[in-house]
Amino acid sequence: MPDASAQPTTDADRAIPGPLAGYTTLRMGGPAERIVAAGSADEIVRAVQTAEEPVLILAGGSNVVIGDPGFPGTVILVRSRGLRVVDEDAGSVTVRVDAGEPWDDLVAATVGNGWAGLECLSGIPGSTGATPIQNVGAYGQEVAETITSVEVYDRVEGTRHSIPAADCGFAYRGSIFKYVDRWVVLSVDFRLTRSPLSGPVRYAELARALGVEVGDQVPLADARAVVLRLRAGKGMVLDATDPDTRSVGSFFTNPVLDRATYDLLLERSAELGDPPAWPGADGLVKVSAAWLIDKAGFTKGHPGTGGVAISSKHTLALTNRSGTAHTGDLLALAATIRDQVHDRFGVTLHPEPVLVNCAL
Ligand SMILES: Cc1cc2nc3c(=O)[nH]c(=O)nc-3n(C[C@H](O)[C@H](O)[C@H](O)COP(=O)(O)OP(=O)(O)OC[C@H]3O[C@@H](n4cnc5c(N)ncnc54)[C@H](O)[C@@H]3O)c2cc1C
Repeated sequence: MPDASAQPTTDADRAIPGPLAGYTTLRMGGPAERIVAAGSADEIVRAVQTAEEPVLILAGGSNVVIGDPGFPGTVILVRSRGLRVVDEDAGSVTVRVDAGEPWDDLVAATVGNGWAGLECLSGIPGSTGATPIQNVGAYGQEVAETITSVEVYDRVEGTRHSIPAADCGFAYRGSIFKYVDRWVVLSVDFRLTRSPLSGPVRYAELARALGVEVGDQVPLADARAVVLRLRAGKGMVLDATDPDTRSVGSFFTNPVLDRATYDLLLERSAELGDPPAWPGADGLVKVSAAWLIDKAGFTKGHPGTGGVAISSKHTLALTNRSGTAHTGDLLALAATIRDQVHDRFGVTLHPEPVLVNCAL
């Protein structure tokens, strides 16, 4: 289980309202008023209905930055487990997965069963229920491609129902769920293809590492193994012995620019060569945040104050290098990077994780 270290035991969860740092992969965040663990969908709903506000839903803690003062309310830990096949035919299978199921356990199971669709998302920390929140993606795959519906508890209406994928507003690292307190994800349905082979490999780096061309298919287990290897090389698989993994993964999203901002970037980066860019719909262009950060003068390992640093393996990851750094130090480093990139290229970087009781 990749994020085991961020998942204390249920009894301890119930008994000890302590610092939230122990529940996050960054190992940062002050205390909560109350911490409640919920081990099933019914328990999650009951916990939300009876909790003293404000409420923070927390699962693997791998995409949150929690402020040093902590959280002045109730933290509900999503600890429901399980997956079951709810529909199948000759070519596909639909699995319903409880929100607290560790994501990489699910990916490993699907690869083992010969169900294609999640293999390139191997090694991503956290829970299954959090994957729709920011439409988790990596190496050319996104969960939006396989999610068919998301079962939620709607805190506004007080109802429990399913939202079809088409209504989830999935976008690059976004959905209707991100930054919104309204919906608590209880389970997620994925429709996967029965196939011993992956989908066509879309990501050039992955194709190179697999020794195939973009568009080729490879055995599912090969795709998973190579993705895990590539991720480990970048500190992107949780490893208690590697301080580079005390992070939230990528701290900034790749900025999506309108034509005028992209032209300004090209002008300002003329002597550096063109930035890696991916044209999108409506003339928008997504550019590499890692490239911008690097060219703005921040190299891998760049230290901030108080024990934080850019990962020694990946320019996009900000880490709690010392293990004892504070959220304020991390956000100060993030602000320096954001401002310097803006001054140099006219592009504003935005954080990928959810900031809780703190701001950038
Ligand atoms: C080393 C590392 C590598 C990473 N690599 C990637 C990557 O390649 N691609 C990628 O997309 N992300 C990546 N991430 C980010 C993160 O792992 C994912 O976003 C993951 O889905 C977060 O899951 P979690 O359970 O840890 O969510 P948490 O951090 O616990 O929560 C994140 C947000 O979702 C909300 N939330 C969580 N569960 C629920 C629920 N059941 N209902 C409603 N809201 C909920 C929380 O309130 C919070 O706002 C990486 C992180 C790390 C540390």
